[in-house]
Amino acid sequence: MHVLITGGAGFIGSQLAEYHLDRGDKVHVVDDLSTGSKENIEEFAEKPGFHFDEADILTWPGLEKAAAWADRVYHMAAVVGVYRVLAEPIKVLSTNIAGTERLLRAIHAGGWSPQVILASTSEVYGHTEARELREDAPLVIQSGARSRWNYAVSKLADEALGLSYARKHGLQITIVRFCNTIGPRQTGRYGMVLPRFVAQALRGEPLTVYGDGNQTRSFCDVRDTVAALDALASNPASGGEIVNVGNNREISILDLAKLIIRTAESTSKIKKIPYLEAYGEDFEDITHRRPALDKLFGLTDFSHNWTLEETVQDLLDRSRNRVAKVV
Ligand code: UDP
Repeated sequence: MHVLITGGAGFIGSQLAEYHLDRGDKVHVVDDLSTGSKENIEEFAEKPGFHFDEADILTWPGLEKAAAWADRVYHMAAVVGVYRVLAEPIKVLSTNIAGTERLLRAIHAGGWSPQVILASTSEVYGHTEARELREDAPLVIQSGARSRWNYAVSKLADEALGLSYARKHGLQITIVRFCNTIGPRQTGRYGMVLPRFVAQALRGEPLTVYGDGNQTRSFCDVRDTVAALDALASNPASGGEIVNVGNNREISILDLAKLIIRTAESTSKIKKIPYLEAYGEDFEDITHRRPALDKLFGLTDFSHNWTLEETVQDLLDRSRNRVAKVV
């Protein structure tokens, strides 16, 4: 199979590349290395069938050719991460919307219908009251919303574009709402909590819990995520659907910090930091997030292989090995 991965040097994208290379597929990655990194894909450079272009999805001259070549497209290229979203509120909208539009136009022009996975996010659910996030729930974004919501707005536009191309041109496009994906190669640089806590615990520094720590999230290992994406893309019935991809075990951020300290046998303490200090004025956090997964399980025979404890242990082992190699 020919697989095109936009944003393929990011943490989910590079896991997708590894997954398909292991299966003997040909993989073409394009990434502008804005949040992705060369390090994430350097181990694939020697593998037969791997190709990398460093380019911006908005201007990449090879897009039409690559889109026509692909049997499967994962569109992961986007401006992501809370810190980047707050720092670059305009770029989030322009890159995420125009990039998806350009890609879908290229796929349609290619004249046939590859299996397409479009990355969206659980951020689109916003401040819903529901304890479980269902794909068909109405979405509420406040008028005059703060900059954090620009990410959700950009991804909602992407969803609408994807669904419209699917309906109008009969393309097999599946919208995937990622819900707090974690795992190897994820960086804490743009705000993601797991790699930040792991690094802090290993350095014996305080774990920085924002707010009171009672906010909850449901974390899904990226190796489970890519298996779910492959299963979805392989089923034509997923075309034109919006599907949550995540894990439904919910944990508070305070308990997550405790779990990491315990597993790392770290001397770190927990330090609570007010949101204002953590993110500045322009911020509202989500209190709870747990995805409904009936739709994913209905469309695929996917099941999870990784528990949160196993992922945390694996990340600690990997970080320690990396440090040991350098020393
Ligand atoms: N968070 C935290 N300490 C950090 C980074 C994040 O307590 O050093 C919190 C953050 O406020 C949020 C949760 O962890 O409540 C998940 O944050 P992340 O940015 O990983 O994901 P998202 O907010 O997009 O769900």
